[in-house]
Amino acid sequence: MESNFDVIVIGSGPGGYVCAIRSAQLGLKTACVELSNTLGGVCLNRGCIPSKSLLNSSELYHKAQKEFNNLGIETTNIKLNLSKMMNNKKKTVQTLTKGIEFLFKKNKITHLKGRGSIASSNTVTVTDDSKKKTSYKTKNIVIATGSEPTSLPGIKIDEKIIVSSTGALSFEKVPKELIVIGGGYIGLELSSVWKRLGSNVMVIEFLDHIIPGMDKDISDAFLKILNKQGINFRLDSKVTRINVVKNKAVVDFINNKNAKRERIECNKVLIAVGRKSNISDNISKLGVKLDNQKKIKVNNKFETSIKNIYAIGDVIDKGPMLAHKAEDEGIAVAEIIAGQAGHVNYDAIPAVIYTSPEVAMVGKTEEQLKKENVKYRVGKFPFLANSRAKVNNETEGFVKIIADEKTDKVLGVSMISAVAGTMIAELALAMEFGASSEDIARTCHAHPTHSEAVKEAAMAIDKRPIHF
Ligand SMILES: Cc1cc2nc3c(=O)[nH]c(=O)nc-3n(C[C@H](O)[C@H](O)[C@H](O)COP(=O)(O)OP(=O)(O)OC[C@H]3O[C@@H](n4cnc5c(N)ncnc54)[C@H](O)[C@@H]3O)c2cc1C
Repeated sequence: MESNFDVIVIGSGPGGYVCAIRSAQLGLKTACVELSNTLGGVCLNRGCIPSKSLLNSSELYHKAQKEFNNLGIETTNIKLNLSKMMNNKKKTVQTLTKGIEFLFKKNKITHLKGRGSIASSNTVTVTDDSKKKTSYKTKNIVIATGSEPTSLPGIKIDEKIIVSSTGALSFEKVPKELIVIGGGYIGLELSSVWKRLGSNVMVIEFLDHIIPGMDKDISDAFLKILNKQGINFRLDSKVTRINVVKNKAVVDFINNKNAKRERIECNKVLIAVGRKSNISDNISKLGVKLDNQKKIKVNNKFETSIKNIYAIGDVIDKGPMLAHKAEDEGIAVAEIIAGQAGHVNYDAIPAVIYTSPEVAMVGKTEEQLKKENVKYRVGKFPFLANSRAKVNNETEGFVKIIADEKTDKVLGVSMISAVAGTMIAELALAMEFGASSEDIARTCHAHPTHSEAVKEAAMAIDKRPIHF
């Protein structure tokens, strides 16, 4: 048996690596097991970071082609070099994953390379590439094994023609036609990337609206914006079959309402219908309780049904599958293990879609509040009336703030804006501090900034916006 640890974290995604660093900061002897060759999990290697790299590069390409001329920046002969764009993405990923290696060394965290499995509540066995098994004793175990893409029943992802997000982040050629199944944030971000780079993109969504879970006003407005950008949609439609014929995919789908059937041929199909948590057989055998979606059940201290075994991130039954949620849980669980009072406020976790414009929300949607019979007031402010948005030609979108009718406490904020992903932090902070809309309305916001629309939306709750 190898050295004794206070904490062994299994998985080095944003939940796992952050948990390992915080544990080490708190003086706990910490190891982190990772089966991939690089640290950082899905987020750094095949999720948040590579997708944002391609979103950024493709947006610049699109702007250089379509918008620079209007600003008096004359460009000729703009060409796409996809392999260079992909190399830039690869370099960014490498720099960031190496950064985590550096942080592990700096914090004296033992990096165990291989597949971790839990032999008992105090023993983790690591199987390396050469199948050698080594067992490590530990006082606490944190499962942070994350998630992987799911497919539709009977449809096999081959990562060549029928791809998951992983494949869609690495196409070698711009597909002439791309069908994206699933109108959630991953599907729409990647639709935007490939549309800007020249694909004909069609999104097929089972529900009658896109971005499920977001405010209906936002979802409707966002659909119009994406339609205007040339992305086609088939809503309320169920994919029944995909056949691969001579390097092409033939997608069959049926309209849920009128039963109209359609068949469309394309070069690539991206399946973006959700993700399932990485649960090994060994975890179930040990008796760690799972919910009906096969996610690990944890209490508010991230304890599983077995003492000393904790779980965080995409693998658990709490909160959205997002990197910053996993990170906050990583910090909280380390603090709990160290005897402190770690906590995550699931009511104030922002969610962002990094398209152009961006979509962001925090707290409750109007639909949720209606269901909960909460009385509320709404304030909206459009970017058409925001001076900075006008200056930058970024007038699409609006801010929508919902506050409690009686107490005026902010209950939820949703927005569409060029910089919504950055702006939403102010509202997450406001909600953490239990702010009222009046607090936001009376806070001085710098001029000219997109953030002034937040102040104005707060003023609109009291029907007193200045610029609209
Ligand atoms: C295309 C895409 C874009 C995304 N964009 C965003 C975004 O912009 N913002 C955002 O917040 N979220 C985004 N996400 C979601 C985000 O990536 C996840 O929520 C986040 O990575 C979850 O972190 P985690 O630590 O729970 O697990 P993961 O990141 O999934 O990491 C788990 C790690 O555990 C390892 N592992 C699994 N089993 C074992 C084992 N038995 N032994 C050792 N190691 C093991 C895996 O190899 C992996 O490295 C995106 C996801 C995708 C797919």
